[in-house]
Amino acid sequence: MCRTIAELDTEITTCRACPRLVAWREQVAREKRAAFRDETYWGRPVPSLGPDDARLLVVGLAPAAHGGNRTGRMFTGDRAADVLIAAMYANGLANQPTSISADDGLRLLGARVTAPVHCAPPDNKPTPTERDNCRHWLDRELRLLAPTLRAVVVLGGWGWQALFPALAESGWAVPKPRPRFGHGAHAVLDSATGGGPLAVFGCYHPSQQNTFTGRLTPAMIAAVFADAATAAGLRPAP
Ligand code: SF4
Repeated sequence: MCRTIAELDTEITTCRACPRLVAWREQVAREKRAAFRDETYWGRPVPSLGPDDARLLVVGLAPAAHGGNRTGRMFTGDRAADVLIAAMYANGLANQPTSISADDGLRLLGARVTAPVHCAPPDNKPTPTERDNCRHWLDRELRLLAPTLRAVVVLGGWGWQALFPALAESGWAVPKPRPRFGHGAHAVLDSATGGGPLAVFGCYHPSQQNTFTGRLTPAMIAAVFADAATAAGLRPAP
């Protein structure tokens, strides 16, 4: 059982609990995309990114095969990363607007980025069993962050569904019926253990499918992060 976020981030990189995902992440790392053929892919579980006293947590889906699985860092080295980090930078949550490689100098400010599944899945689709296998990592992360955590941005309906059971497990009172996902969805959960309330925000995932079609624009994602940063106490109220 990890006692600190640093331990968690180290431990997770050795996990091999999902045979299908272990095989896929390693196959992708061997075969590579032509544009990255000279690079050494990470090919392992991708730890979360950001400080251990974050007030805002971003919950995605899983690392991308040629993004996080290549660079070893969440939301790094692909177009979804460009959109997400630009929106965070615009709201004072990152020190630079780009996320290109693990050594590019990016620092998240008061915010942390995680995923319910830490290995790249085929077609970006983890199975329910893989989601459940990975749940204990998310549960532990939420418990360790609980003293400071005040807001969550969930990128997409899949992450939304995966997050709420983990929040309940980690000490927040999840309303029944469970809040529904939508872009701009907003729910406030009380702490069942005496901590502060947690504001949860829904946002469409910054996948190419959403950004190329205009379903999610830079202004839309920046607006969600503005609200979330305010709720987390990281940005003054407008
Ligand atoms: S998805 Fe999670 S549980 Fe499965 S192998 Fe990767 S880190 Fe381990």
